[in-house]
Amino acid sequence: MTEQNNENQAVSSDVLNKLRASVLGANDGIVSVSSMLMGVAGATDNTGAIFTAGLAALVAGALSMAVGEYVSVSSQSDAEKAYIEREKNLLQKHPKQQLEELVQAYVDKGIHEKTARQVANELTKNDALHAHLMTEFGMGEDEVVQPMHAALSSFFSFSVGGLIPFITIITVPHSFRIIATGCAVLVALTLTGYMSASVGGASKRRAILRVVAGGLAAMIVTYYVGSLFGAKVG
Ligand SMILES: [Zn+2]
Repeated sequence: MTEQNNENQAVSSDVLNKLRASVLGANDGIVSVSSMLMGVAGATDNTGAIFTAGLAALVAGALSMAVGEYVSVSSQSDAEKAYIEREKNLLQKHPKQQLEELVQAYVDKGIHEKTARQVANELTKNDALHAHLMTEFGMGEDEVVQPMHAALSSFFSFSVGGLIPFITIITVPHSFRIIATGCAVLVALTLTGYMSASVGGASKRRAILRVVAGGLAAMIVTYYVGSLFGAKVG
């Protein structure tokens, strides 16, 4: 594989990771909000109750996804910042040793020592820190992950997914509520299953089946739990 290809792959894998996270977030929104709605709709015909429960599921789910993402990406960002500080220190204290480390890294990649030394020398002269970070961790000093961005994007993708069953169940006439929401969820999950399979390069049919079966099972279970519970208290 050529170096050009490697670089393209690194760039696109970052974009793919973000896309995959968005699709997963939307998927979570679809499944958890639709299940909550089905549970309540199984217990009551009251549109106000369904609306309130759906809105609460939407807001609570989106916030919990955002907080979870913030916490997890924060610890990743702390680790990345620590790597950068460590490399900065090492470069200041042991520049010779660090140059040798870089030479060795290129030799390990299969480059002849003479060439490796020349490359390492030139890169060190240009921007030693950047050369070390790219070689050792595959990241630039300006590429530290952003917890707030990750949190906002989770919040957004969960909300987009959750709005699909929510809007469906509160807008369609009362007697079509369950079937229409089920259909909307089926279509939405087919789409997220297709997208996540495209992103990962996996079998589309299997990914769609998995995602749709999981989502339908969640809706059916909560609907029956809701109707049992609703029948008992009502
Ligand atoms: Zn280093």
